[in-house]
Amino acid sequence: MNIEQAIEYITKNNVKFIRFQFVDILGFPKNVAYPVKGGEKGLEELREILETGVWFDGSSITGFVGIQESDMLLKPDLSTLSVLPWRPEEKSVARVICDVYRDEKTPFEGDPRSRLKALLEELKEKDKGEFFVGPEPEFFLLKKDENGRWVPADDGGYFDVEPLDEAPDIRRDIVLALENLGFHVEASHHEVAPGQHEVDFKFDNALKTADSVVTFKMTIKNIAKKHGLKATFMPKPFFGMNGNGMHCHQSVWFNGEPSFYDPNGPYNGLSETCLSYIAGILEHAKALVAVTNPTVNSYKRLVPGYEAPVNIAWANKNRSAIIRVPAARGKATRIEFRAPDPTCNPYLAFACMLAAGLDGIKRKLTPPEPVEKNIFKMSEEEKKALGIESVPSNLKDALDELENDDVLKKALGDYIFEKYLEIKRAEWDSFRISVTDWELNNYLVY
Ligand code: GLU
Ligand code: MG
Ligand code: MG
Repeated sequence: MNIEQAIEYITKNNVKFIRFQFVDILGFPKNVAYPVKGGEKGLEELREILETGVWFDGSSITGFVGIQESDMLLKPDLSTLSVLPWRPEEKSVARVICDVYRDEKTPFEGDPRSRLKALLEELKEKDKGEFFVGPEPEFFLLKKDENGRWVPADDGGYFDVEPLDEAPDIRRDIVLALENLGFHVEASHHEVAPGQHEVDFKFDNALKTADSVVTFKMTIKNIAKKHGLKATFMPKPFFGMNGNGMHCHQSVWFNGEPSFYDPNGPYNGLSETCLSYIAGILEHAKALVAVTNPTVNSYKRLVPGYEAPVNIAWANKNRSAIIRVPAARGKATRIEFRAPDPTCNPYLAFACMLAAGLDGIKRKLTPPEPVEKNIFKMSEEEKKALGIESVPSNLKDALDELENDDVLKKALGDYIFEKYLEIKRAEWDSFRISVTDWELNNYLVY
């Protein structure tokens, strides 16, 4: 979309407010809204902000800059201009996703979107490569019980229908809203846990997909709110139930061709490139989860027994391994990395997944044999014999791994790497010194 097309879109859709949107280092969407004014002068002003962008105070955004360097610029990516379907139709609201700049010419090295964009451009320039991601974010719909606590909004389970599934109307509204936003929705269904749901959308290039993940979460939260419920993407809201994952299907193409398929390759046609990519992800998995599973709560999902992965292994069908290769071949050959959860910053998570996989390709790594047995049922000795390690069991251990991973450090860039570790270590510390309900329940007896 060029400026003239953007103006036409704004006029045609009666857009009154344009939100300039970006994310902070944690992946939370932020925005500032500008009212569109009428007349010649209004049009001129609109053209000006679409062209140059808008200035904002970067010092109040998590992971950005100090107050001594606070002026920053939001430069809109006009291809993302879209009316927000949960806002009023009259005098509507559109958002445009922006890149963050220090000034007109200097991209901000702490902007997660710009970081991913830079890596994707490098891949394109150096190897005519493209990175595709198809995420599967899961979420819970919650209602308040008589004690004011958030609890699952229904008692349904996997693929249930109404009346057990109480959310068909909400998922319907979600899917319609996503379609209005340009999503290609593939399926929607009740998930395993009570109140848990999944809506799947089609894979795309990593930048577009990362934008989509942010928009997706906003849409779901807003539609749920309209129905009087709360949507949460928290990885493990309830002990004893499945958690929320965001499995990421992914593949890399080179020279316009899929690179993960080789009709003569092992495992029914996996290419050497695919196997090396898998090996790269496995090699960096312990550090990678610090970015793909970035909260204290993330590690309460990564435990045996709930379809979330724990073991650093790969498999063709087995869902207890961290990587699964779905059966589809040809152009659709891809791997599914099952560790990520929807609290990750998708720009940073995709940047790090790509870097880990490419490192495997560059070093021509070979993965161990796939593990088709249920790893959750293996003894420690059996796992040891097969060389199967586990992901870190908490955020701190994952951050320690990240700190020592030069490939991921390079992918994040020094600026984000330092800030990220600082913020996440503080988050861990705040958890470490807090006193939980579990402790009260178990230790008040002393
Ligand atoms: N909810 C599971 C997880 O935490 C995934 C279930 C599924 O395979 O869709 O990863
Ligand atoms: Mg699922
Ligand atoms: Mg999946």
